[in-house]
Amino acid sequence: MRSVFVAVGALLALAAAQAPAPADTILVNGHVITVDARFSIAQAIAIRGGRFAAVGTDADIRKLAGPGTQTIDLHGDTVIPGLADDHLHDAGGGPGVDLSRARSLGDVLAAIGERVKASRAGDIVVSNSDWHEAQLTEHRLPYRSDLDTVSPNNPVVLVRGGHEYILNSAALAKWHITRETSQPAGGRITRDAHGELNGELIDRAKALVQLPPSPPLTIDGLVAQHRKLNAAGLTSIRYPGASIEQYRLLQQMEQRGLLTIRVNQLLRFGADNAVAMRDAIARSGVTPDEGDDWLRIGGMKLAVDGGFEGGWMREPYAEPWGEHGAFFGVNTMKQAAYTEVVKELNRLGWRVATHAVGDAAIDEVLTAYEAANAEQSIRGRRWTIEHGFVPQPDQFPRMKALDLVISAQDHLYLAGPSLVNYWGAARAGRTTPMRTYLDQGFVVAGGTDSAVVPYPPLWVLYHFVSRDTISGGVMGADQRISRKEALQVETINNAYVTFEERAKGSIEPGKLADLVELPEDILSCPEKRIEQMRITMTMVGGRIVYRRP
Ligand SMILES: [Zn+2]
Repeated sequence: MRSVFVAVGALLALAAAQAPAPADTILVNGHVITVDARFSIAQAIAIRGGRFAAVGTDADIRKLAGPGTQTIDLHGDTVIPGLADDHLHDAGGGPGVDLSRARSLGDVLAAIGERVKASRAGDIVVSNSDWHEAQLTEHRLPYRSDLDTVSPNNPVVLVRGGHEYILNSAALAKWHITRETSQPAGGRITRDAHGELNGELIDRAKALVQLPPSPPLTIDGLVAQHRKLNAAGLTSIRYPGASIEQYRLLQQMEQRGLLTIRVNQLLRFGADNAVAMRDAIARSGVTPDEGDDWLRIGGMKLAVDGGFEGGWMREPYAEPWGEHGAFFGVNTMKQAAYTEVVKELNRLGWRVATHAVGDAAIDEVLTAYEAANAEQSIRGRRWTIEHGFVPQPDQFPRMKALDLVISAQDHLYLAGPSLVNYWGAARAGRTTPMRTYLDQGFVVAGGTDSAVVPYPPLWVLYHFVSRDTISGGVMGADQRISRKEALQVETINNAYVTFEERAKGSIEPGKLADLVELPEDILSCPEKRIEQMRITMTMVGGRIVYRRP
């Protein structure tokens, strides 16, 4: 026993000799939802060197303040860990026509018409991609004939999300797309009830159109986007398949101290065979998981099907989209080539994240992942299925055997009414079955797919706990999850996807000091307030990156 006392005494002496430096910042008088393993609630936080130094009562934390310590009085506000988005392409916007605020077909046509009037003969009018027809009261796309009414001469291309263009007649003529044009592999040229082209081009059919190049991504542009994301409460994002050029820009930003959000980037090379993939990786000079707490490579992004209008299903689409039971969605990368690429990535030590929306697409992913796993185990490496809208019960044991992580988003919140049109009410109501995934024991991380779906993470939390949608009411109420579960999905589970759950995702001593201040208690406020409340303050690495004016 005596030796133990000696040891304790020595430790106390050591602690006294090396009394910790005062905190850089303390936050007191708050309601701190730590999202630690026990979901502890605290009053106050101390931050030192960009990390949480202590979490506890006001009295405990005030003791850690010195003369140079900044004290933030939270006035009873709620603090949660910084929020994350596991699948965010960009923050929306761009040089095209802004349709994000359109709420009717009339709004869309007015915005397009205005740009047409300001254009010269022959100019191509293009929209930004961050809008969806489900936000319009009519719940349908503007088609060729609608667009012709405001632009009889100038080619118009509405870009909608990442999978779809809608062209007017002048644009169809410009790119020589007619009724005789054959359906491209992995894509679709859509027709109306009379067999006429309605202007809609899906997935690889978009390659028939050559849009003017969008202005190159710049550091200033990325800084501005990250500021918008910080203002929504985001402190970490995962870019789901961006270019090597974007990664190099982000590296420059980190070197110059310009990052205000932590970034994990999946690379996307568009290589559709093993040799091309190996060559692309070698040329890039990037290694798996390279990086640090600010910027890290997270793996390789692949895709096997379309989105809302092209998710590849076991059962056909609902009519009229089902074309009398003949349309099952779009398979953008065939099994043999996809499996070959997946196996090669595994051999090279890369983790794989695959876009798979429909159940048939998930089948293809599981078949390829199983083939890779047979060569060299992928268990424990947190490979993901991105989206996983419509999993089937027979797929859960296969996902489990591979130890997969689910990367889910709130597409239903935006697109609910359209998904009913495409897939029927029952299948739409099962879209992104969060309750089922969690009950099956999967780690599920959450996000938005911005700019396909708007980026505010509070909207994701609201949708996952309510299953409410922007314009279609509650869908699939049995898939609701609790507020605590939703908070985990948006924080610590996101950290898990990138192997960073020990570094961030909860408010615990030693972790990176990323947090969000909210004006209301997100665990007890009226449900609708989760969607409506505004972020008060966002902090990344102990530095305030947003404060509401
Ligand atoms: Zn995406």
